[in-house]
Amino acid sequence: MNSPRILVLGTGGTIAGAGSNATGAAYRPGGLALEVLVGHLAALGLDADLVSQEIARIGSQDIGFAEWQALHAACTAALADPAIGGIIITHGTDTAEETGFLLDLTLPTTKPIVLVGAMRAADAVGADGMRNFANAVKVASDPAASGRGVMLVMGDAVLAVRDARKAATSAIDAFRSFPRGPLARVTPASLDWFGPPHRACEGARYAFPQELPRVAILTAGAGMDEQPVKALLGIGCKGVVLAGMGQGNAPASVIAALADAAASGVPVVRSTRVDEGLVDRNVEVEDDALGLVAARALGPAKARVLLMVLIANGVTDAGAVQTAFDGG
Ligand code: ASP
Repeated sequence: MNSPRILVLGTGGTIAGAGSNATGAAYRPGGLALEVLVGHLAALGLDADLVSQEIARIGSQDIGFAEWQALHAACTAALADPAIGGIIITHGTDTAEETGFLLDLTLPTTKPIVLVGAMRAADAVGADGMRNFANAVKVASDPAASGRGVMLVMGDAVLAVRDARKAATSAIDAFRSFPRGPLARVTPASLDWFGPPHRACEGARYAFPQELPRVAILTAGAGMDEQPVKALLGIGCKGVVLAGMGQGNAPASVIAALADAAASGVPVVRSTRVDEGLVDRNVEVEDDALGLVAARALGPAKARVLLMVLIANGVTDAGAVQTAFDGG
């Protein structure tokens, strides 16, 4: 066996989904134990040396700080262990971009870290999990996969989690990559990178938080008023991400209430409810005058993760928060 040892961290999700009747829609995410999943993979006869550690067996809609802390600790130990060449995290697709981005922000890029999921339960007809898992092994085994940040392998594509976005509720081809395209194409037999590692030998960008501050996403809607902003501040939100219309817009009274929040020391980031595109400063909203931050390429879910990490690291000044959002 020539391949590097890979640590597989299991969290559940549809890739470990079970209990479907093969042609029905219903199933339980995380129904299969990680060792069963890894056993299925071993039966494919891949040249892979896998060790597994189950962190959780849940649908990723239920993932939170405890699992993130456990994943971060397990990754940190594996990065320091010379016997481990790469890390795979099996994960539900609903929040893969959030878990992946949190780890991307708080871990060095010295070894490949790959999230993998599936859109069809393991016992459903046409299940995609084993294909994605085999692809993830191919990526995590490749020394050229390090220095690219945390990645997501789905649908024969390798995406940087910073760019990855779930864009379909049930299609197998569920993820899009914006603003950069995929990093590579992968099959169990081939791996073609589209460029050199762009983050070679980078240290962790931020310390992993001791706890995560309450940061809410407020989705803008036509005709809404400022009361939801007041309600969020009333429950003690330490930051707010606006999933705005278009270029991160919202009705004037909402923008005014958000500016008041910013003036009171609660950082406010304007993202967009639109599928794709940058949110830039001072386009239709006067960010400079109002003390607001433009999310640039990050959609609301990842904007919230970055804002939580920033606040936890003591970064709340609008200029410093903006610099972090501008940073790639
Ligand atoms: N709800 C599931 C999860 O995120 C969906 C999936 O895995 O595709 O765990």
